Amino acid sequence: MRDRWTILKNYLNVRFRKSFKSRDQLDQWQQAQVKKFLQTILPKSSFYQKQFESIDISHWQRAPIIEKTEMMEHFDQLNTVGISKEQAFEVALKAEQSRNFSPKIGDITIGLSSGTSGNRGLFLVSDEERLRWAGTVLAKLLPGPIWQKERIAFFLRANSNLYGSVKSSTIQFSYFDLLDPLEKHLEKLNQFRPTILTAPPSMLRFLAEAIQQNKLNIAPEKVISVAEVLDPLDEAFITKIFEQKVHQVYQCTEGFLACTCEHGTLHLNEDLVVIQKEYLDESLKKFSPIITDFNRTSQPIIRYRLNDILTERAQTCPCGSIMTALESIEGRCDDLFYLKLSNSDELQPVFPDFIRRAVIGSSEEIDAYRVQQLAPDKIKVFVKASEDVMPGLKESFSNLWKRLNCEPPQIEYERMDLEKPQAKKLKRVERCFSLEDLSI
Ligand SMILES: [Zn+2]
Repeated sequence: MRDRWTILKNYLNVRFRKSFKSRDQLDQWQQAQVKKFLQTILPKSSFYQKQFESIDISHWQRAPIIEKTEMMEHFDQLNTVGISKEQAFEVALKAEQSRNFSPKIGDITIGLSSGTSGNRGLFLVSDEERLRWAGTVLAKLLPGPIWQKERIAFFLRANSNLYGSVKSSTIQFSYFDLLDPLEKHLEKLNQFRPTILTAPPSMLRFLAEAIQQNKLNIAPEKVISVAEVLDPLDEAFITKIFEQKVHQVYQCTEGFLACTCEHGTLHLNEDLVVIQKEYLDESLKKFSPIITDFNRTSQPIIRYRLNDILTERAQTCPCGSIMTALESIEGRCDDLFYLKLSNSDELQPVFPDFIRRAVIGSSEEIDAYRVQQLAPDKIKVFVKASEDVMPGLKESFSNLWKRLNCEPPQIEYERMDLEKPQAKKLKRVERCFSLEDLSI
């Protein structure tokens, strides 16, 4: 009962919060939130206390920036609930092996982010935070009020009791394990008939194909893309088959950072987190977010840089929200291509979006593609198309290299079939080497 009340209270807070009239008003409100938050958190986290040693909290924006590496390195001193990294890893790994999705220490849920074995992140969420999160997510994503009946289908790589919190007497919630066979999903979906469908775009695309082939018969009211970059090509196909806008949620272990409004525009959740922009290219409005989450207490996220590329939207959104609107979430900085500049040995970063547009813009016959950079002078392009699109693709890339003043890399083209969704995240544009490897 108390759990329901926490969810509902937070739902009402977020859903019916008076909207901010101006950026100034939002800024002032955020400043007050962060200050209040730091006053209670700093005494409990010896790591952050040190970070703020010579900084007055009213100038918190000047505190040192941290990243995942620091977060993991100082895990024990950073969290405020006295859980050690060893303890958390042990519990989380054991749970993962047995596919038990509720690893807890006391009232703290332990989560493990995906990634290569040496690079996995741990996250801690208390029951109170989990319930508040559920209320917030419902407030932001439910198309109707909370008392309206909904059936939510949620595709995930690994379940967590984070998501089970959303269940209530009116809201049915069904978890779909991305590791399960695809046929099983179709059968289960046909029975469940979700009103809200939430899945990575590679799965949404597969489900759209299944509808087209009459293997799946569902008509959700809302379709939400999560966890992978939503490629314009996939978006167009999913939109066509489901006959509606594809919504997006930008949520990671570090926070619930953005979601789409009724117009389908992504807005940063600046009523939940402060997001400072570290520009990668200001003229192109591309930046990486630096997050300060003033609601997260067990594992505080303060001045935390996320290695993602976001593009600010040039026009304001017709919904009238003053929260920063995004054009797109482009992917990880790790997927920036690096090409040699003409007449120089220097490498030039190339945004994934440029690669994406070079492919999509070259022909309307392309159904799917993947572009991988294997080395600074070597790119591999996979395409699925109904006719020969190679000449157009070649021309499109050669124009891009000219425009960027790059030395043309060697490109290998290969035909591909539509790939089935897999446990691994689908990346249509991917760099397959690390910059550190180059300097060796
Ligand atoms: Zn909007």
